[in-house]
Amino acid sequence: MTKQAEPARKWAILVHGGAGTIERNQLRPEQEAAYRAALSKVVEAGAAVLDRGGSALDAVEAAIHLLEDDPLFNSGRGAVFTAEGRIELDASIMDGASLAAGAVAGVTRTRSPLTLARTVMEKSPHVMMVGAGADAFSASQGLEQVDPGYFATQRRWRSLENFLKAHDLPIPAKPPGLEQPDPANGLAHDEGKHGTVGVVALDLKGDVAAGTSTGGTTGKQWGRVGDSPIIGAGTYASNASCAVSATGSGEYFIRLTVARDIAALVELKGMSLQAAADEVIQNKLTALGGDGGIIAVAPDGQLAWSFNTSGMYRGRAALGEPVSVGIYKDEP
Ligand code: ASP
Repeated sequence: MTKQAEPARKWAILVHGGAGTIERNQLRPEQEAAYRAALSKVVEAGAAVLDRGGSALDAVEAAIHLLEDDPLFNSGRGAVFTAEGRIELDASIMDGASLAAGAVAGVTRTRSPLTLARTVMEKSPHVMMVGAGADAFSASQGLEQVDPGYFATQRRWRSLENFLKAHDLPIPAKPPGLEQPDPANGLAHDEGKHGTVGVVALDLKGDVAAGTSTGGTTGKQWGRVGDSPIIGAGTYASNASCAVSATGSGEYFIRLTVARDIAALVELKGMSLQAAADEVIQNKLTALGGDGGIIAVAPDGQLAWSFNTSGMYRGRAALGEPVSVGIYKDEP
């Protein structure tokens, strides 16, 4: 009897920086170059963790840190404002090996909301914490705290003013932090409402993980929480199926439990990852009137993305596959 060959071990990583109205004629060449460079750097950082045998969770966290710190994207520094002129951040992470998960919503002082979500997962008996309680837990755990003005950028303030004017809502007093020069050097593109970031990864052990971090949507009101911190909606990971991170109109992603729905099609119907992703994004999400996209990876190394907007900032790499990034619909 011949011995069965061990399955080839492979690592893989995919990142997104939000989906939305992103068209070639809207981005100046230097803006496009800035996004492509940022995405490459993020993929490389996550890939380096995986290539040296690090865990999918560590790769997700390392990559998301760079995205959260980068004012081009709607997470951490550069996040969008609420209607009250505040920045309230949401994030979640899930470990496909153990189904452990952590999430935070409406946090205001932690430099990396994704790390706070991971700390909820690893250092508390809970899965989700919100608002002041989550901020207090973060400080008690010694995570890096910043003044809320750290997250504020002038271009997001302009987006808020435009949004509030269009909706006939009052414009709140400017918060501190806006006097600093535009940290994105005028290179950021207003992609409409979505600029959430997310990462999915497969490590050499065969474990998958997913993470998502966002400021939510411009002008959100009344403590609104989107899909990003909701396990099963904006983030999901299971070694039995796949890891998924989403971006888009959160209210639709929550109602369709987009991330878990894709995983369920893979796990229970045996669909390929791409077919499952397209079924949920191109068919179900589109039919309900939502917009956005997802990235996904399966333990067997399948990679997929799907979006129904004109663009999605994205990048990928895998063992033996170079880094590639894309913005527009017609790119591979
Ligand atoms: N999905 C996020 C939310 O609804 C927004 C985004 O993806 O940009 O909060």
